[in-house]
Amino acid sequence: MQTARSNPELLNFESFEQITSLPEYRPNNPLTHENYRQILGWYHFVEKQCCCVQRASGTLCGTPHNHVWVAKLKDGTVTILGADCANDKFGADSTVFKDISLAMNARREKERADKVRSLVEQSTHFENELRAAIVRVRQARMQLDEFLSSVGHEFRRRIVNMAKTGNASVVIEGVKVRYDQKSGKNTPETSIIKHTLGVLDGLSAIDYQQFLRLTVEMEHIKAAFVEARTSTRVNRAIKAKLGYHIEQCEPALVQAEQLVGVVTRFFRNQAWLYCFFTDDRSERARLAKRAMNESGIEGSRDQAKAWLTQREHELCRELGVDRIRLCR
Ligand SMILES: [Zn+2]
Repeated sequence: MQTARSNPELLNFESFEQITSLPEYRPNNPLTHENYRQILGWYHFVEKQCCCVQRASGTLCGTPHNHVWVAKLKDGTVTILGADCANDKFGADSTVFKDISLAMNARREKERADKVRSLVEQSTHFENELRAAIVRVRQARMQLDEFLSSVGHEFRRRIVNMAKTGNASVVIEGVKVRYDQKSGKNTPETSIIKHTLGVLDGLSAIDYQQFLRLTVEMEHIKAAFVEARTSTRVNRAIKAKLGYHIEQCEPALVQAEQLVGVVTRFFRNQAWLYCFFTDDRSERARLAKRAMNESGIEGSRDQAKAWLTQREHELCRELGVDRIRLCR
């Protein structure tokens, strides 16, 4: 029996007229399990067309469908059936359904191959895009690395930890000390309030692996383009492998842009928030200098320390506490 397996060249009908103009086409031509021969192709209609699968009662299914399969019957005539009707009316074990599954696979394969072919036709363009994206991703990673190494271990450890947990809130503790006058013993009573200073943007940038993964992937895709463009003889397996990489091209370029965007957002964070990440004196001084510069004041590291102390005093007044400590 002839089935889609032996006839993979399925037709993609572009209009209903293309089907009705087939000399073998008959309107309202009943399709049954017994008279079915093969799938000829498919069509996606703008207006719905009625399915010609014959029900047990003898009437036609008649359900209107946008997506239909065109089938040839044993008597040589042609009819149409709705996309889902083969499974509903004939069951998953039927030849019709199996042929449709094969046809769908063949169709997906064809669409994939067409897509890969069209990408390969623009190979030079995509190779350039990939090359530029790889440079941008590397630059973003280096900028990030430079910043993290310029502060210190404590800060780096803390921010990596935050990125891992995905908690981007910068929280501090305000400490208020009260002395109990009544008892006369002067025992201090400490109360603590938690205060969210701000929320970091683009925190997910702090994951080095993603830069590496994406760069390696883009290198593979670029190499696949070069190979597809320059090789004269490639076997089926190599073609499939190249196709697999090439079809990842556009998603990878989108990912690269997103990643660079996340890094840009990360660098918009105020260094003022970072001043509450670490107890380390020199790291804090570096961050304070950065924060002070951001607020438009130039000066030495010592001036930055004084500036931070001043800002902390202001914050204590705002929060009504005696001092501020890091929240871990
Ligand atoms: Zn139907």
